[in-house]
Amino acid sequence: MHETSLSQSILRAVLAELQRIDPPPLRLKRVRVVAGSDHPVVPDHVISAYATEAQGTPAEGSVLELSIAPMLGRCTACGWRGEIADFACGSCGSLDLELERRDAVRLQELEVEEADGEGGR
Ligand SMILES: [Zn+2]
Repeated sequence: MHETSLSQSILRAVLAELQRIDPPPLRLKRVRVVAGSDHPVVPDHVISAYATEAQGTPAEGSVLELSIAPMLGRCTACGWRGEIADFACGSCGSLDLELERRDAVRLQELEVEEADGEGGR
C-alpha cells in the first residue's frame, strides 16, 4: 500500500503548509504536488486515498494534482545512471538496478479560498 503512505505524507505536508498561512484560509481548493517515490505508485490511487484521508481536516474537499517524479537509479551491469522507467536500465536494459531513495513530497502550489474572499469566478 505505497499509495496510502504517500497520500498520508502529502496530506501531512499540505496541512503543515496550511497552518503557516495567516490568516487561515476558508478552505483549500487545489494543491499541486510533485512526489518522488522509490516504489511505483498509481497516481489515481494516491489521489483517491488523499481525498479520503483529507475528510475532517482543513484540506477536505481539495483537489490533489499529483505528479510523480521519476525514479532515479544506477545500473549495476553497465554503470548507467538516470531516470528509470519500467524497472529497466535505460542503456542496456538490465534489470539489475540500484534505486535511489526518493520519497520526498514537494508542494508546488496551494490554491486557497481566502477568508476575505476575492469573489473568484
Ligand atoms: Zn545498464
